[in-house]
Amino acid sequence: MPSNKTIVSREQRQIVLHSSVIQEPEHAPLRSVLEKYETITDKILECDDSIDQRTKDIIRNAFMEIYNIARQEWESVRENTEGNTNCSLCNQPNKLIFFIRNKFNGNTLNVGSSCITHFSNLRDANTGESIAKIRSRILRSQDLINRKTDFRLEYKDLEKVLSRYRKILDRSEFLLPEPYYGALSRYIESISNFERDYLSGKIPKSDLSKLKVILELCENYVENYVLHWLKEQDSENKLLCDIQLTTWLENQKETAIIETIRNNNSRIDILIINKIYETSFVEKQLPFLRKQLESLFLTIELYNGRIYVTLDEKKLKDLVFFCSPKVFMEQFGKQVFIPNPANIDVGYCLRNILTLDEPEITGLIEVLNTQYRGNYKFLFDDDTKQVYIIRGNQYVISNFNSITKRLLPYTIRKEFLEISKQMFFERFTGWQPLESFDEDKLYKLGLYE
Ligand SMILES: [Zn+2]
Repeated sequence: MPSNKTIVSREQRQIVLHSSVIQEPEHAPLRSVLEKYETITDKILECDDSIDQRTKDIIRNAFMEIYNIARQEWESVRENTEGNTNCSLCNQPNKLIFFIRNKFNGNTLNVGSSCITHFSNLRDANTGESIAKIRSRILRSQDLINRKTDFRLEYKDLEKVLSRYRKILDRSEFLLPEPYYGALSRYIESISNFERDYLSGKIPKSDLSKLKVILELCENYVENYVLHWLKEQDSENKLLCDIQLTTWLENQKETAIIETIRNNNSRIDILIINKIYETSFVEKQLPFLRKQLESLFLTIELYNGRIYVTLDEKKLKDLVFFCSPKVFMEQFGKQVFIPNPANIDVGYCLRNILTLDEPEITGLIEVLNTQYRGNYKFLFDDDTKQVYIIRGNQYVISNFNSITKRLLPYTIRKEFLEISKQMFFERFTGWQPLESFDEDKLYKLGLYE
C-alpha cells in the first residue's frame, strides 16, 4: 500500500517550475511531471505509469539538489505589507508579500511571510539586507501596529484618565501631602509604564487586560483617599499650602520646601515660614498676623509690595515703619508664627528690620519735650535732620531714626510714659559742653524761647 507521503511540496514545485534550471533539456521529463501535479506524493509515483522509472528515481533521490540550485536563482526585489495577495507557493492569502525575481529568466513570484523562510539566504537586490532580517523587521513593526490598535480599542479613554490624575496630583486646590502624593505618583507611573511596555512588545498580548486591574485600584484610591482628603480641608486654613503658594515655590525651584510641606501634611510650620516671602502668601496671612500683633499695639498692612507697621498709640501713630515681605518673613515672620506672640522681640525688629517711613517729626519732638520737661530739651534741625538733646549745660547730637528706634520697644508695652530717664538717655554717649556750640544756631532751633 503506497503512503501519501509528500515527496515534492507545492512550494518546492513552484520554485523549481519557475527557475531556469528546470529548462535544461535533461530535466524536461521532470518538468512535465511538475506541471501535471501541484504536489507529488509517494502514491503518485507508485500509480502514475506515464512517469518513467528514471524520472521517478530523480524525483525520489535528486529533487532536493535541483530544488537547492533553483533556490539560489532568486533575489528579493521588494515587499508589500498591505492588502491580501495570495502566496505563489502555498496559495494562502498574505498581508506581507515578498516579490522575488529569478536572476536568470526574470520570472517573479509572490511569496508570503511564512514561505519566504525557505529563502533564508536570499538578500534584497538593492540593499543587500537578508530576507530573515527584513521579515523580522516588518513582522515586528506590524505587531507593534496591531498592539497599538488593540490597546487604543481596549483603553480608549486612558489619556483623559491619566490627565485627570495628573491634574489631581499637581494642580489640586491644596498641595497633596505624602503619602497621597507618593501613592498617586506611583499609580500614574505604573499605568504609563504598562502602556509603554505593552506598545513596545515587552508585555505579552495576553496580559492586555491586566491594566484594568491597576486602573480600578487607582480610581478607588483617588476617590476614597485623595479626593476625600481634599474635600475635608478647610479652605480658610491660612497655613495650609494652596495651589498659588505651590506654584510660587515651584517657580522658585524650592523643591526641598515643597517636600517638607508635603511631609508636614501640607501644613506650613514655623521652620519653613521664614523661607516664604511671596506677597500673596503674606497677604493671606495678614488677618492672622494682625490678630497676633494687636496685643503688641502694632498694626500691619501690606501696600504696594511693602509691609507697613504702625504703632497703635495715639501720640505715635504717625510713625510708620516698613520692610519688604522677604525681610519680614525672614525675621519677623518666624517670631510672629510662634505659639506665644508675647515673646516677639519687637525692639529687635524695629531696630534691625523695619525702616522708618518719612516720619512726622514735630509730633514726636513735642511728646518728648512734654515728657521730659525741666530736665531735657529736644531740638530738631530741619536742615541737617539732626536732633539735639540738651541736658543742663550739655548736649548730644542724635538722629531721629535712632531715637525712635530706641524709644519704640517701650511703646509696645504701653509703657512709653513710664520709660525711665536713665534707661533711655544712658544710651546716648558723647555729651559735649553747651558753650562749645553755636549759640545763634541753638537760638534759631528754639532753645531760648
Ligand atoms: Zn506561501
